[in-house]
Amino acid sequence: MTRYGMAIDLNRCFGCQACAAACKIANNLPKGLSYNVVYTKNDDDYTYPGTAVAKGALINDSAGGAFPDCSLSFFPLGCQHCANPSCVAVCPTGASSKGENGIVSVDSELCIGCGSCIKACPYGVRTLIGEDVEYYLDLAVGEVDAPAHKIDTVEKCTFCKNLIERGEEPACMQLCPGRARYWGDLDDPTSDPNVAAQGREVLHYLEDEGTEPSVLYLR
Ligand code: SF4
Ligand code: SF4
Ligand code: SF4
Repeated sequence: MTRYGMAIDLNRCFGCQACAAACKIANNLPKGLSYNVVYTKNDDDYTYPGTAVAKGALINDSAGGAFPDCSLSFFPLGCQHCANPSCVAVCPTGASSKGENGIVSVDSELCIGCGSCIKACPYGVRTLIGEDVEYYLDLAVGEVDAPAHKIDTVEKCTFCKNLIERGEEPACMQLCPGRARYWGDLDDPTSDPNVAAQGREVLHYLEDEGTEPSVLYLR
């Protein structure tokens, strides 16, 4: 079995947002939709409970500490492709599912836009595509097989499964100048994310939620 996952080295990420931009372009994401957001953190507390609090706290774009001993750190956040995904458990139509490779997907043909998964996901990474969807350009950008963005359906990071299926890595991996991201099979002890995690403190974000995320944050 394969369980695709990612390690993100928080000591290497310097908040350049290249991963967020690469994701938006590769997936032809419209305005207001980001699968991958690089939040700014101003303290060392990663235990924020709940989506609204977590996002509000993470998005605070200011340094922590007292001058001149200030600090600033970054926290890239997207779908955690959980091994025990709460979004899948509540989906009434089977639109949200977890594949044998560990990737959690949304089938836009089955999604009825009920929003249950948005409420159930503790990470706040799902978005309902509204009727006012608007693009930056009149032409589609990114990969030719980028996901279609269907009104009244829910979307989130796909781990760029279209790229993975042809042997490439997710778009956020490809541009990271900090070399902060590692991609591979979490069930393989020799995979890049597992090797990168050796000897490091590994944070499973909001692990008290019981979702068993497949993104490992290295500290
Ligand atoms: Fe589902 Fe949220 Fe986990 Fe992604 S992060 S698999 S949307 S519960
Ligand atoms: Fe499932 Fe779509 Fe409802 Fe989410 S919005 S729970 S994916 S049917
Ligand atoms: Fe951090 Fe890499 Fe994303 Fe830049 S591209 S914000 S260094 S994870």
